[in-house]
Amino acid sequence: MSPTEVPGDPLAPPSPADDRPLLKVTGLTKSFGASRVLDGVDLSVRRGEVLVLIGPSGSGKTTVLRSLNGLETPDAGVVDFDGGPSLDFSSRVSKADRAALRDRSAMVFQHHNLFPHRTVLQNVIEGPVHAHRVPKAEAIARAEALLDRVGLTEKRDAFPFQLSGGQQQRVGIVRALALRPQLLLFDEPTSALDPELVGEVLVVLKELADEGWTMVIVTHELGFARQVADEVLFFDHGVVVERGAPKQLFTAPREERTRRFVDRIL
Ligand code: ADP
Repeated sequence: MSPTEVPGDPLAPPSPADDRPLLKVTGLTKSFGASRVLDGVDLSVRRGEVLVLIGPSGSGKTTVLRSLNGLETPDAGVVDFDGGPSLDFSSRVSKADRAALRDRSAMVFQHHNLFPHRTVLQNVIEGPVHAHRVPKAEAIARAEALLDRVGLTEKRDAFPFQLSGGQQQRVGIVRALALRPQLLLFDEPTSALDPELVGEVLVVLKELADEGWTMVIVTHELGFARQVADEVLFFDHGVVVERGAPKQLFTAPREERTRRFVDRIL
């Protein structure tokens, strides 16, 4: 589907699930000063698959997401998106290639990052209209359909401060979906919410997973991870210590470090 079409179901992903990897990352490495925060991370995601990244704070999970979304430039590593050029960060990656990489995904942050002085609708159409040059009427139609789908129609003209934290985060998700990215990245999307608001956001994420969106999610909600993940990667000190299906990784981890982490959280 072209990015300018209004989809039948606004929650439907731009392309259906299949077995080809949508994204393959090899040897992702990043240091900040003398501190190496990613040390050769490999991962791959097929279309329609949900990958969940878990691990202690500071283990590098957010840096992986930010590298995929062009917010950080890795020192080394190869990123292949299906249909795009292979980007090898150990040599210079052009500005155009970095911009193309950034456009393939949309990120939902821990704090929703909505523009405070714009309405919900204005926040949602900002990216499609200004970055993707979608005609305004079409962007509004798509935004309204998405807001309806997540139960926020009557908040269309509200400002972010007039919404609860859970509603703000749902708008943040709608804003990402409105860009019709191939890949959705979530960085601890519920960790800034009061406990009673976590559920309404996780419900939306679960629906997106069921609709077949390809997602990489950083979360400490291991119960949720168990429900939605196709694969879980456990990070510690910038490396993937263990990866596997959620059932195996949570109930019978192979590595002692994974077991200690999971036991502490579950
Ligand atoms: P996680 O998401 O697992 O909590 P992060 O990827 O956020 O981990 O951080 C990994 C490490 O990198 C941490 O030690 C963090 O302090 C450091 N770090 C992240 N971003 C920066 C930055 N812009 N400058 C310096 N250090 C950073």
